[in-house]
Amino acid sequence: MNSTEIIEVEERYGAHNYHPLDVVIEKAAGVWVYDVNGKKYLDCLAAYSAVNQGHCHPRIIKALKDQADKVTLTSRAFRNDQLPFLYKELSELTGYEMILPMNSGAEAVETALKAARKWGYKVKGIPENAAEIITCENNFAGRTISIISFTTVDQYKDGFGPFTPGFKIIPYGDAGALEKAITKNTAAFLVEPIQGEGGVIVPPEGYLKKAYEICRKNNVLFIADEIQSGLGRSGKLFAFEYDNIRPDAVIIGKALSGGCYPVSAVLSSKEVLGVFNPGDHGSTFGGNPLGAAVARESLKVLIEENLVENSFRMGEYFREKLRGIKSKHVKEIRGKGLFIGVELKPEANGARRFCEALMGKGILCKETHENVIRFAPPLVIKKEEIDWAVKNVEEVLMME
Ligand SMILES: *Cc1c(COP(=O)(O)O)cnc(C)c1O
Repeated sequence: MNSTEIIEVEERYGAHNYHPLDVVIEKAAGVWVYDVNGKKYLDCLAAYSAVNQGHCHPRIIKALKDQADKVTLTSRAFRNDQLPFLYKELSELTGYEMILPMNSGAEAVETALKAARKWGYKVKGIPENAAEIITCENNFAGRTISIISFTTVDQYKDGFGPFTPGFKIIPYGDAGALEKAITKNTAAFLVEPIQGEGGVIVPPEGYLKKAYEICRKNNVLFIADEIQSGLGRSGKLFAFEYDNIRPDAVIIGKALSGGCYPVSAVLSSKEVLGVFNPGDHGSTFGGNPLGAAVARESLKVLIEENLVENSFRMGEYFREKLRGIKSKHVKEIRGKGLFIGVELKPEANGARRFCEALMGKGILCKETHENVIRFAPPLVIKKEEIDWAVKNVEEVLMME
C-alpha cells in the first residue's frame, strides 16, 4: 500500500482527534525516520521528547526484547524483579526518596494531584474537600477530565464538562500572583519549568526560585511537571536545576522509556508519597517488569552517553545558528538545551505551512500554538546534522 492508501484507512476507521502531517513512517533509527516510500527525515519533534535517547536505541530495544522473553506483566498483586531496581536507580539518580510508577504522563499528573490533596488533608490539616491546587495559564498536563479542568485552552475543554473543582489558575511567570493566590487551604502549586505545548515558554529568570520560596514559606508543595522538559531535554537532567531548587515532587514520563513503552512516575519524599496506603491508588500496568526494564536501560543510556551534556551544547549551537537566519517571519528564538521554540510573527500566517514545507525538505517538526515551530530532536543529534537542518530551515523561513 502506498502512503495515500494507508492514510485513507486511518481516516476511515480512526477517531480524528489529531491532525498529523501526512508522512507515514515505517522505521526509524537515532535522529532519522523513514517513510513508506523510503524517504528519510530528520525528526525534530522526537515524539514530544519521548525519544530523547534516539529512535530504536539498540540498548533499549535489547532490554525490551530480553525482558519480553522473561515476563511482561505481573500486576502489582505480585512483585517482580525489575521494579525495585528502577526505584533504586531513579532514587540514586535524582535524590528523591520515594517513587510511584504509572504509564502515561497524564496518569502520573493525576497521581501527583491525588498525593498533594491527600498530603493536604492528612499532613497539612486542610479541612475535608477544601484543598486547592494552583496551576498556571497556558499549561499542558494531559487530557483527563481533572487535568483539562485547569487548562486555559478552550478547545481542550469544549464539550467535556462538568469539570473537577479545586483548581486555581494564575499567570505563568508571575511569582506575585502565586503569593496572592495561596490560602490556608492550598495544598500544591503545579508548574512546568518550561511550558512545552504552550509554545516552549521559558519563564523569566528567577521565577521558579521565587515561586519555590513562596511555597516553602506557606507549606505548599511545589510540584514540577518535567514530563517534557525533564530527562535532559533542557540541557540539564531537570529544567528546575537552572534555578537551583528542589521541588517537593517531580513528575516524569515520555523519555523515561526512550519512546519504547509508556512509563511515567512521580518522584517525591516519604512525607508526600507515604500518604498512599495499599488500595488507595493503582494501575494494572503501572510498574510492570517490561516497562521497568526498559526505563532502567533508558536512564542508563541517558547518563552513560552523556546525552544531557550533549543537549546543552547542541542546543546552544542550534539556537546560535538559527539566530543567524535573517527571516522577516521570525519574532523570537528561545529555549534551553535542545528544547527550542521559533516564534513567528502573526503576519507569517501560522507555523503549520512552514512545518509542511520543512517536511518537503526532510525535516519533521510540529507547530505548537499556531505560531511556534518547536525544534526538539533526539538528544543524540550531532553538529553536522544540525548544520544540515539549519540550511534547510533557512530556505523555508525565507519563503514568502
Ligand atoms: C506530554 C505531557 C503530559 C502528558 O503526558 P501523556 O503521556 O501524553 O499523558 C503532561 N505534562 C507535560 C508537560 C507534557 O508535555
